[in-house]
Amino acid sequence: MKIEKIGVIGAGQMGNGIAHVCALAGRHVTLCDLSPEALETALATINGNLARQVSKGTISEDTRDATLARIKTVVSLEQLNDIDLVIESAVEDEEVKRKIFVDLCPHLREDTIISSNTSSISITRLAAVTDRPGRFMGIHFMNPVPVMELVELIRGIATEDDIFNNVRGFIGELNKTVAVAEDFPAFMVNRILLPMINEAIYTLYEGVGTVEAIDTALRLGANHPMGPLQLADFIGLDTCLSIMQVLYEGLADTKYRPCPLLVKYVEAGWLGRKTGRGFYDYRGDTPVPTR
Ligand code: NAD
Repeated sequence: MKIEKIGVIGAGQMGNGIAHVCALAGRHVTLCDLSPEALETALATINGNLARQVSKGTISEDTRDATLARIKTVVSLEQLNDIDLVIESAVEDEEVKRKIFVDLCPHLREDTIISSNTSSISITRLAAVTDRPGRFMGIHFMNPVPVMELVELIRGIATEDDIFNNVRGFIGELNKTVAVAEDFPAFMVNRILLPMINEAIYTLYEGVGTVEAIDTALRLGANHPMGPLQLADFIGLDTCLSIMQVLYEGLADTKYRPCPLLVKYVEAGWLGRKTGRGFYDYRGDTPVPTR
């Protein structure tokens, strides 16, 4: 089966980027979110990002218009009844994802492939709540999706080879490079990246450095394009905390315990860029450290 019709569930930071790259590659995209406001914001973001590509000369105005015309938005899972590949990209919460898959399956065609863009949750466990574990796998895009080249692909224990290979070919057509990871907590990228971010938060919590000092240290001292606290805000602090919890519980090792300061920011609703405040305050013209 050629993958032509894509359903994206969750129109947040990642969902809008996934819709963008799939539609730009000529696919018809149905973007689904519970929240009509999230869908509106997602379309505005895609519009803005495509406009930037036009101004840089990477795509033409006609391509932008055709790309936008290939994206439709819906608020109900029922409308994903004629889709080749579903990419679930709702919040990083296992209960939410499980409920989405249970509610989704009865509406799907029998041959629809299901995937999750989860950053850390077991693909095998998510697949087990569906009626098709053989046609289920992990497709982990990086943020921001239109810019980042990597996609991690994860097989669940039951994922069939022809499904995996079909999806791998499709990801290649999005001009992304694949890295294959086994299904263990947080896969590869976040298994390595998130403990570093969590350690940066401990470094702040223990008073070793300020937000600015820690980010400057890693940008100029390790040549990272963003400091770890800036990156945490970019990912979303709720997502960072969920990933650390999955690592902590899934690998049963205290080295993955989430920093209490990260928990406090999430409890305050200071989730980073997406809510206007995290380790930096984004409400003014330039970001200002919050500690
Ligand atoms: P986000 O908070 O920006 O967006 C989540 C969206 O899901 C929201 O629009 C919300 O309304 C929607 N949603 C919640 N429950 C829903 C439901 N039942 N049905 C439909 N929509 C629902 O989060 P995000 O950063 O886009 O992350 C989404 C997924 O992508 C998570 O699994 C996350 O781990 C993964 N991911 C995130 C990053 C990152 O850097 N942020 C990178 C790779 C993967």
